[in-house]
Amino acid sequence: MLKHLLTGLYDLVYPPHCPICRKHLTFPDSDKILCLDCRDRLIRNTPPFCPKCSRHLDDIGLPRCLPCREEPHQFDFAWAACLYKDPLRELIIQFKYNQKTRLRRPLARCVTDFVQTYDLDIRQFDCLVPVPLHPVRLRERGYNQALLLAEHIAAAYQIPLSAGNLVRARNTKQQTLLSEKERWTNVHGAFRINHPAWFFRKNILIIDDLLTTGATVSEAAGELKHAGAGTVGVLTLAITAK
Ligand SMILES: [Zn+2]
Ligand SMILES: [Zn+2]
Repeated sequence: MLKHLLTGLYDLVYPPHCPICRKHLTFPDSDKILCLDCRDRLIRNTPPFCPKCSRHLDDIGLPRCLPCREEPHQFDFAWAACLYKDPLRELIIQFKYNQKTRLRRPLARCVTDFVQTYDLDIRQFDCLVPVPLHPVRLRERGYNQALLLAEHIAAAYQIPLSAGNLVRARNTKQQTLLSEKERWTNVHGAFRINHPAWFFRKNILIIDDLLTTGATVSEAAGELKHAGAGTVGVLTLAITAK
C-alpha cells in the first residue's frame, strides 16, 4: 500500500518517460518503462539462425556464422533474442552502466518473447546460471545485470536459479576495451566453481546480456563442463551482428 502510494507520488513529481525517445508515458504500456513505438523498434533476431550461436545469417548458404567458424565455443548452443543495434544498444548501456535497473522487466520480456516465438525448449535445463561479476566490479556497479535478467526468466519458467556457485576467480579487463583475439586470452581461467558436485549431470543455461565473440560464455561453459555438467546452453538478450 505504502509502496504504491510512494510510486504514485514519485510518478507525479517525475512523470515516467521513455528512456529512448523521452516521450511521456501517460498509460502503463510495457510497465511504464518503454513506449510501444520504441519497443517495436527493437530489432529481433530472426531466422536463418547460425546453428551454434543463433546469430542471424545473411547468407543462407553458410553453415555457421563467421565467429563460430573461427573459434570453437565450449557451450553446446546459444540463443539470442535481439540484435545489438540501436535502440537496444543504448538501452543495454543504460541498463548496465547507468543504474537503470528498472529496464530489467522490458528487457527480460524480449528474451521470454523470443523463447515463446521460436518455441525453444527451455525446460530441458535444470538451472539457470547468470554470468557472474567479480566482487570488485559488483561493488562498483551495485548489481549484476545478468542476474537481474536471469531472475525474471527463472520466474517466468519456474526454473531454479544458481547464482554464487560459478564465480569470477579474477577481475578481468572489460571485454569491450579489447580486440577479438585479446578477449579470448583475457577470460581464460576467469571462472571458478565453489561446489562442482552441484553441477554434475545438470543441464545448465547460462544467462547474459550480450554475446559478442562468445569468449566469456564459452569460458564459463568450459568450467561447467569440467564440473561434469550435461548440456550447457546460453541465452542472451542480444547478439552482435556479423
Ligand atoms: Zn519511446
Ligand atoms: Zn554462430
